[in-house]
Amino acid sequence: MMPISQILSDNVRLLKTKATRPAIYGVTIAVGAIVVASMLASFINHGEITLSGIVDAQRGNVALWALDLMPFIFAFWGQYVSSVIAYEAGAMVIDQTQDLRTKTSALEYQAMHDATHDALTDLPNRVLLRDRLQQAIHSAQREKRALAVLLLDLNRFKDINETLGHYQGDRLLKHVASRLKHVVREADTLARLGGDEFAIILNPLTSLEDIHTVVSKIQKALAPPYTLDSLKIDVQASIGAALFPEHGADADTLLQRIDVAMYAAKQEKKNFVLYSEKLDQQSPHRLTLMSELREAIKNDELSLRFQPIVSNRTNGVHEVEVLVRWDHKIHGIMTPDEFIPMAERTGLIYPITQWVIKHALIQHVAWRTMGLDMGIAVNISAQTLLDPEFPDQVTGLIAAYDVSPHRLTLEITESSIMFDQELALHILGRFADMGVRIAIDDFGTGYSSLSYLKKLPVSHLKIDKSFVLDMLENENDAIIVKATIDLGHNLGLEVIAEGVENQQTLDLLKQRGCDAMQGYHINYPLRGEDFAPWFYGASQWGQRHSAGLTIN
Ligand code: C2E
Ligand code: CA
Ligand code: CA
Repeated sequence: MMPISQILSDNVRLLKTKATRPAIYGVTIAVGAIVVASMLASFINHGEITLSGIVDAQRGNVALWALDLMPFIFAFWGQYVSSVIAYEAGAMVIDQTQDLRTKTSALEYQAMHDATHDALTDLPNRVLLRDRLQQAIHSAQREKRALAVLLLDLNRFKDINETLGHYQGDRLLKHVASRLKHVVREADTLARLGGDEFAIILNPLTSLEDIHTVVSKIQKALAPPYTLDSLKIDVQASIGAALFPEHGADADTLLQRIDVAMYAAKQEKKNFVLYSEKLDQQSPHRLTLMSELREAIKNDELSLRFQPIVSNRTNGVHEVEVLVRWDHKIHGIMTPDEFIPMAERTGLIYPITQWVIKHALIQHVAWRTMGLDMGIAVNISAQTLLDPEFPDQVTGLIAAYDVSPHRLTLEITESSIMFDQELALHILGRFADMGVRIAIDDFGTGYSSLSYLKKLPVSHLKIDKSFVLDMLENENDAIIVKATIDLGHNLGLEVIAEGVENQQTLDLLKQRGCDAMQGYHINYPLRGEDFAPWFYGASQWGQRHSAGLTIN
C-alpha cells in the first residue's frame, strides 16, 4: 500500500496543476479592476476613454502599476489557499479512513469472535470446536498419534434452571466453565456446545490413562457445592468420550460418537462411558423414537394405567392417578420415563397431555355409568402448565365429557411452579376458579419456598416416593415424611404418600396422620378394564368397604 504522505503530496500536486475557483475569481476581479481603473485614468487625464489614453495611463500611473500586480497576487493566493485547504481536507479524509479501517477490523474481529465463541462463558462454541477438532485430527494423522474428545453434560441442570430461574442457571454455568478451565491443559480445547453441554479435546493423548485422569479431575473440580444466593447446589456431570482414530476418522463422526457415549452414561447413571460400537445400536432408536411417538399419538397407540389412592379417613378408593404408557410395536410397553422427557424437549408433551386428559375423562365417564365415581389425577409437565391456552383446553374437555371439575386433579411439580411464578399463580388461579384441584407432586425434591406455596390455590401435597420407600429403615426419611405431613396440615392441605410397598409402611403412614396412600402394596397401576373387577372384587379397599362414601 502507498504511504499516506505520498498519497497526500500526490493529491496536492494534482490540485496545484488545476486552476482553483478562488484563483480564477481573484484574477478576474483584479483584471476587471485594472481595466476600470485604466479607463477612469484615461477619462480623468483626457476627458474621454480612448485606447491611447488607457496606454498612457498604464505608462505613467504608479498606482496602476501596483494594481497590475494584483492578478498575479490573487492567482498565487488562490492557488496557495486552495492547496492548503486541499492538504488539510486530504489529511482529514485519510485520518478518518484510517480510523474507520481500525474500527472495521475491530468489528470484524468481534463478529468473528462472536461467531465462534459462546456469549455466556466466552468459551469456543460448537463451530470453533469442530474446526479445532479437524485441525487436531490432521496433525494427529501426520504425527500418527491419538487424540480424545469428551462430552460433558450436567446432571439435573434442567431442574435447577427451572427451579431457580435462568439467571441463576447462567451463573451456575459460568462457575462450571471456570472450574473446567482449570482442569484442561493449555493445548487442550474446552468448548461449550450450548445448554449444559461442554466438550474437551485432549490433544495429544499419550495413553488411555490420560482420559481417566482428566475425568477424575473434572469430577473432583465439579464436586464442591456451588453457592447461589446462599443455596448450596450440587452438580455432577455425565461424561462420554471417543478416540481418534479408533472410534472415528473425522470430526463429525467423533462428535456424534461422544453424544452416543454421553447419552449412555446418563442412561446407565454412570460418571463416564467410553464409546463402543454396541452403544450405537441404541442411538438410532432414540432418533426415530420421536417421529414414532408423533404417529403413536395420532394412532392412539398410547394407553393409560390407573393407580388407586386409598383414603385414610374412609379406607376406600375414591381417586386414581392416571399414568401414561406407550404400546410400542417393537419395544413393547414403554414407561413414561422412557419418552416423557424427550416429549418435553420436543413439544410433543402438549398433544400427549391432551390425549391423556381426554382418555382419562372417557374412562371416568365409563366408570360413572357403572356407578363408580372415581376422581382422576393427571400428571402435568411444566411446559403444559405454563401454556396460557391450557386452562381453556381443559375447560373444553370437561364440558365435552360432562365431568364435574372437582373430580379432576392436576398433579404438578414444585419446579414447574417455580419456573415462572407469576404465570403459574395466574393459571392455577383459573383452575381453582373452575373447581379443578391441584396437587403438588414429588413434594420434597424441589426448592419451593413455603411462603410461596401458601399463596397457591393447592389442595394437596404428594410426598415423593423416594422418602416413603425406605421410611421403615431410614430414620431420616421417616422424619421427613412426618414433617411433610405436619407441614401440609399446617398449610391446610391434604397429604398423599406415594410408593407404599408394604403393610407396615401403610400402617405407619396412617399412624402419622397421612390423608391418603398410593403404592404397589395397594395395587400396581391397572388398565382401565381391570380396575372395576379389582375394585368390586379382590380389593379390600374397593366397593365393599367404601360404599356410599365420597371425598371431595
Ligand atoms: P409420578 O407422578 O411420581 O408417578 C408415580 C410413579 O411411581 C409411577 O411410575 C408409578 O408406577 C410409580 N409407583 C407407584 N407406586 C409405586 C411403588 O409402590 N413403588 C415404586 N417404586 N413405584 C411406584 P410411572 O407410571 O413409570 O410414571 C413415572 C413418572 O412419569 C410419573 O411419576 C410422572 O411424573 C410421569 N408421568 C406419568 N404419566 C404422565 C403423563 O401422562 N404426563 C406427564 N407429563 N407425565 C407423566
Ligand atoms: Ca404424579
Ligand atoms: Ca411422584
